[in-house]
Amino acid sequence: MEAKGGYWGKILRVNLTTGEIKVEPLPEEFPRKYLGGVGFGTRLLYDEVPAKVDPLGPENKMIITPGLFVGTGIGTGSKTAFNFKSPLTGGYGRSMAGAKMGEELKKAGYDILIIEGKSEEPVLLVIEDDNVKLVPANEYWGLTTGEARKKAKEEYPGFATAFIGPAGENLSLISIIDTDERQAARGGPGAVLGSKKLKGIVVKGTKKIPIAEPEKLRELIKKWALVFKDHPATKADMEYGSGEFLDWMNRERGTFPTRNWQMGFFKKAYEKAKEEGREHIYIDPYYWAPKYRVGRRPCPLCNKPCSQYVKVESEKWGTFMVDGPEYETLYSFGGVLEIDDFETVAYLNYLADELGLDTISAGVTIAWAMEAYERGLLTKEEADGLELTFGNGEAAVEALKKMAYREGNLGKLLADGVKRASERLGRGSEKFALHVKGMEPPAYDVRGIKGMALAFAVNVRGADHLTSGAYGTELVGKWWKFEGVDRTKGENKGFEIAFHENLMAIYDATGTCKFSRHMYFLEGFPELVEAVTGMNIGEAELMVIGERIMNIARAFNVREGFGRKDDTLPYRIMWEPIPEGPSKGLHVPPWELDRMLDEYYQARGWSRDGIPTKAKLMALDLPDIADDIGAGI
Ligand code: SF4
Repeated sequence: MEAKGGYWGKILRVNLTTGEIKVEPLPEEFPRKYLGGVGFGTRLLYDEVPAKVDPLGPENKMIITPGLFVGTGIGTGSKTAFNFKSPLTGGYGRSMAGAKMGEELKKAGYDILIIEGKSEEPVLLVIEDDNVKLVPANEYWGLTTGEARKKAKEEYPGFATAFIGPAGENLSLISIIDTDERQAARGGPGAVLGSKKLKGIVVKGTKKIPIAEPEKLRELIKKWALVFKDHPATKADMEYGSGEFLDWMNRERGTFPTRNWQMGFFKKAYEKAKEEGREHIYIDPYYWAPKYRVGRRPCPLCNKPCSQYVKVESEKWGTFMVDGPEYETLYSFGGVLEIDDFETVAYLNYLADELGLDTISAGVTIAWAMEAYERGLLTKEEADGLELTFGNGEAAVEALKKMAYREGNLGKLLADGVKRASERLGRGSEKFALHVKGMEPPAYDVRGIKGMALAFAVNVRGADHLTSGAYGTELVGKWWKFEGVDRTKGENKGFEIAFHENLMAIYDATGTCKFSRHMYFLEGFPELVEAVTGMNIGEAELMVIGERIMNIARAFNVREGFGRKDDTLPYRIMWEPIPEGPSKGLHVPPWELDRMLDEYYQARGWSRDGIPTKAKLMALDLPDIADDIGAGI
């Protein structure tokens, strides 16, 4: 292998149907072509999960790929990718988490873990260096993620863990994998493990990850630690977490979706606080972080932790501890449900983590149910007697519990996310079901952030903010090499979004947290990659790797039948302008989206139908994929 460090050259493969466990060599060309993390995962997913397989059947796989920097000590190099065919969208699935288990997997001597097949009975996968076994997990089945983690920590002290909760067991399409209180959340990875009857994974490794140039790496780690320490964003992130910019999103930009996206501004919370300042907005971390934070539980080896671990002693909800709601959850259990009580938002966050549900998808689905209820489309009887009105925290808590267990009429209706729920209910409720390709959107009212609207529409895994990470560039108007970006106009967005996606794929391949993208720019990566692997890969080649990864992900979806018709937006985003606030009047009509799609496909070198061309795929050294799906001659 060309690389002198960073890789073991080993794939651990576990077949749950046969019980076979084997170690295979990492293909020679993988490090230079795909780097690691999501790069390895995307390529393997394309190669090993053929078109049209049932995402909840034995043919689907869970491919776990720690980023290249994981375990090396590089600041925020903490992310592990969980790659799978998404049961939520039917397409490419990938979920990232600051998972301790990724680091342990590498220390155990593996670059990649592939889980395939399906067990008849609940099992736990135990990995301790070269010792790998499947053990019965009947006593774990039915436990919440927290209960399972606690039990595993007693039985396997010193091991990192990953568990699904009841929602994953019950095959909820919006269920997660919890990895020591960090969540691989989006696209239904919990249901994939649930369908395989794999309750969890515990991992411990004792090997030293090979590093090509250890001395140089030590110096670089020190250099970047100082950059992080002195950066103004570090202090804000550490004091208030990712919700730090909530007030700005809400009051300055008017792009904080509220009441199931009926509004782009959480008016109720602000009216209550009147002129008293953001410390009196109860879901704003300026209020809750100093009051409730008792510590931090960051991703492994993070040197700018955004984690706000809180202890809540609530009259309504009892005492509980949770890693405090991050920005997306302040929206999904706060703004979009119009709940402005921090303790309730935190409790919903705690429950979702314990039950194993994606906070974004679950919140947006409940918000849809609240709107349906208030419009008289969902009756009280159909809502299992709940008064499912906006702002009703008690009803939201009950709905969430029901979703995880598919309990009652409401649980069955909501368990699989908003697309399925609106199809089940009908009655015109599809018009206010917020999703792209079946995935519920995060906390950016893209009617007022046009580049992000395009990013939602073309996103390979549905409406997410992380594949492009372009919301900051759009909202501030500049970032790194980008200047003069106008969020209110749907022009010049094609290149911007394609470039952001390619660059973010490098973060995901190396496992670098995107909260450090104001510190590490593209120029920061080559020296780190070289110190870890010994491979001299410049900025231009890194961007080609990012582009290659994005094209393979797109090819995976094309093979499943996705194309331009699926690169669309929810009805509300296209047809209902933001009614008031700083982004009043903005929306993304279909003609504007169409123009942005043309621009994007052109920037990508794809056909007008959104299919990667043979020429582009050949240029990216993907001849087999060019043969499979490439457009043109
Ligand atoms: S900044 Fe936050 S999300 Fe990123 S690695 Fe650190 S703790 Fe994890």
